[in-house]
Amino acid sequence: MEINDFFNSLTPDVIAEVNRLQIEAQEKEFNEFIANFKNDRCYLCSKELADVGTSLCLHNLLFRANPKKGILERTFEKHGLFPTLTYLAWVANSEATGINIQKKIHNLETGKKFECSFKWQNIVWSFSVAESDFQGHSGTQTDFPHFHVEILINEKFNTRFGQLHLRLTDQDIFNLKAIDFFKDRSVLFSGHAVDSDALEESFTASGGSILAPVIDNQSPHYHVESVIRKADGSSISQAELDELISRSTENHKLIFECAKEKGYLVQSAISPTDAVLTLRERK
Ligand SMILES: [Zn+2]
Ligand SMILES: [Zn+2]
Repeated sequence: MEINDFFNSLTPDVIAEVNRLQIEAQEKEFNEFIANFKNDRCYLCSKELADVGTSLCLHNLLFRANPKKGILERTFEKHGLFPTLTYLAWVANSEATGINIQKKIHNLETGKKFECSFKWQNIVWSFSVAESDFQGHSGTQTDFPHFHVEILINEKFNTRFGQLHLRLTDQDIFNLKAIDFFKDRSVLFSGHAVDSDALEESFTASGGSILAPVIDNQSPHYHVESVIRKADGSSISQAELDELISRSTENHKLIFECAKEKGYLVQSAISPTDAVLTLRERK
C-alpha cells in the first residue's frame, strides 16, 4: 500500500482516536519528565542531568556537562529526529509554554521540508531537513535520508548545520511523510509539546490556563486581547460587563473565564512579545 493511500484510508474517527491515545500517553510521560526534571534528574535513565557519561541518553543534549566527542552524534542517531524533538519541546516548555519553540513546515522558497528551533536557558537547538536531505545527497557519502542540527550555547556555535549528517530513522521518514500529507501541526507536537502556532486555539480551549509555565514565569510573553459577545453574536451591555467584572474580582479569575462560565462567546487573540524565539533558518 502506498503511504498516501494508507493516510487516505484513515477516517476522521480513527484519526481522532489515535490523537486522543497519543495525547493521553504523552500526558503521562510528560508528568514523569517534569517531576524528574524539577529535581535535575532524567526521567529516561534516572541519572542526574549533569551525569553525562558514555550513555546515549537524550539528557546529553542539555549540556549540564560536555559530552565527549562523538557522543552527541550517536545520541541523535540512536533516538532519531522526532523523539528528540518531543523531548526538547518538553524541555523548552518547562521554562515557558510555547514561546521557546518555532517551526516551519514546507518552505517551498528555500526547499526546506521541515525546520524548527527550541530554546531552553542558554541553549538553542535548531533542526533542518531539506528535500535534498530527505532524498540523500546523491553522489556523496551522505546519500541517505538525514537531518541537520545546529546548537548554540551562549549564542556561540557548538555545532553548525553543515557539520553533521544524522540518519533519519524509519519512524522519522514516516512522520515526515505524514507531515507532508496532513500539513497539520497536530501530527507533530501534541499534548504539552505545543508551539506558538498551536497556542491560540489551545489558549481559548483551556480558558487561559495553558499560558501558565510549568516551572516558573519571570516575564509576560504574550499580549492577550479578548472579545466577549453573546451567543447570538450581539454585544453585551454595560450592566452585564459590570457583573462579569465583579465576578472576576470576587473569584480571582480572568474576566473571559467568567464570561465563558456564563455562556458568552469569547474570542481571544494572542500576540507574542519580543521574548518569543525566532526560527534559525539554515542558509
Ligand atoms: Zn537520561
Ligand atoms: Zn544534508
